[in-house]
Amino acid sequence: MVFRKRHPSRTTEIVAQSDYRKFREQLRKDFNCRCGYCDDRDIPRAEGFEIDHFVPQKVDSSLGTVYSNLVYACRSCNNSKRAKWPTNNPLEHNNGREGWIDPCDKSYADQFERGNYGEIIATTELGEWMYNELKLWKPQHEILQCYEEIENSIQELRSCLENCNNAYNLKIFLKLYEKKDKILYRLYI
Ligand SMILES: [Zn+2]
Repeated sequence: MVFRKRHPSRTTEIVAQSDYRKFREQLRKDFNCRCGYCDDRDIPRAEGFEIDHFVPQKVDSSLGTVYSNLVYACRSCNNSKRAKWPTNNPLEHNNGREGWIDPCDKSYADQFERGNYGEIIATTELGEWMYNELKLWKPQHEILQCYEEIENSIQELRSCLENCNNAYNLKIFLKLYEKKDKILYRLYI
């Protein structure tokens, strides 16, 4: 399965800010409410999402408030990435084996795919490096992917319930699917 269904895209119509945190809402929108790196959705934990400097400030402090250098990221990916920048050159994002690809670059998604259970799989050498550095093996990524699939199924069932005569069985299914919240409860509490 493909790694992500929609690619993030940063708007170019942006008013400069002296504090990068002021870009948060615009970034959230441009990244489709998802982490640029792992594609986890920020619902229901937007407060756990942060702003990553793609080229770390330690490598190039002049990019601190440049919108095109910012990535909407979950705390796990942001904490894992930190100031790692193997090339030490702000203009060279990677050397083909180590380093990063800007998540807004469509080739970012070519480095990964999804397994049957929503788990992230690296498909290239560079993808493998990012996979390990970002700790994309963490179970939370596949759990959230499954959660979304369950939510979609619930929506489908709701539509069926409105048109189906065998509503009793569908109600039982729906009850099972609504256990989805327990998944999140276990994950974050
Ligand atoms: Zn993430």
